[in-house]
Amino acid sequence: KETRQGVALYESGRDEVHLRQLALMGDLRHAIERDELSLQFQPKVEIGSRRVLHAEALVRWTHAQLGPVRPDEFVPLAERSGFIHELTRYVLDRSLAQQKKWGEQGLDLGIAVNLSAIDLMDADLPDFILACLQRHDVPPQRLILELTESALMRDVNYAVRMLHRLRAIGMRLAIDDFGTGYSSLAQLKRMPVDELKIDKSFVMQMTEDSDDAVIVRSTIELGHNMGLRVIAEGVETEDSLALLARLGCDMAQGYFLSPPLAGDALSAWARDFSAGTPAAAMHDLRV
Ligand code: C2E
Ligand code: MG
Ligand code: MG
Ligand code: MG
Repeated sequence: KETRQGVALYESGRDEVHLRQLALMGDLRHAIERDELSLQFQPKVEIGSRRVLHAEALVRWTHAQLGPVRPDEFVPLAERSGFIHELTRYVLDRSLAQQKKWGEQGLDLGIAVNLSAIDLMDADLPDFILACLQRHDVPPQRLILELTESALMRDVNYAVRMLHRLRAIGMRLAIDDFGTGYSSLAQLKRMPVDELKIDKSFVMQMTEDSDDAVIVRSTIELGHNMGLRVIAEGVETEDSLALLARLGCDMAQGYFLSPPLAGDALSAWARDFSAGTPAAAMHDLRV
């Protein structure tokens, strides 16, 4: 990420990047009313059973002039401008509506939503989520909130309190991008979470890079020793999925299984996948 930003700065100059950011920040405020935001959903699959357990909501912004803008670029801008509160509420509302719709189609999926570090400081968020669950008639157990390790480490005491409030409602909690946020084991132990997501930077090359494989293996052990379910993100190849299965990883997410999809496409994919049709087949993992 740093390299990419470095290249952008070099190519277009600091001022241009700054101008783009200012323009994006201003335009983002109108993105909802202009109907420029949408969601895609990526399946999180249980490796042993081949069951699709959750779908992760990933926000998309198609700017009228600039075309698609990546969340890695605009979510940080939303955090800086304060728009993140509105963005998070939009994503939660649309995600729960989609979860409800899948349920009506006979597909019982958990829906995972990403929260930002700023959301953790938002004392009104738990009440909003509760009202949103009720409005869409979705049981709290079907909502998984993903928080990055670095967001949780900003203010550990505050984070722990907020996580307890969210959990009291009945939601599940996941630590996202695990391995990139410098948490100590003592801090990790205090987090009332259910799921550990191993960052894709360790997973993507784990079959070629033995250091990455060691990190993934020990993270799976760590998570299991703490009673957590462990998921690997960034599963791009059949070989990495097979290795994760051997290492006892609980779940997998990544392009090898499916890219993020529109809501209707995801339910079609999930049906094919469960039926084991070739287009969506996960290959035999027994070794
Ligand atoms: P994340 O939550 O860690 O989401 C996983 C990212 O990895 C997604 O990128 C997804 O498209 C991508 N990905 C999935 N499978 C693979 C794979 O096999 N290989 C590779 N190389 N990448 C894969 P995306 O959608 O661009 O989102 C990037 C980040 O932006 C997310 O990382 C999350 O931190 C943030 N984000 C996305 N949507 C939201 C949102 O609604 N709210 C907040 N606060 N942040 C969001
Ligand atoms: Mg996530
Ligand atoms: Mg992640
Ligand atoms: Mg990430």
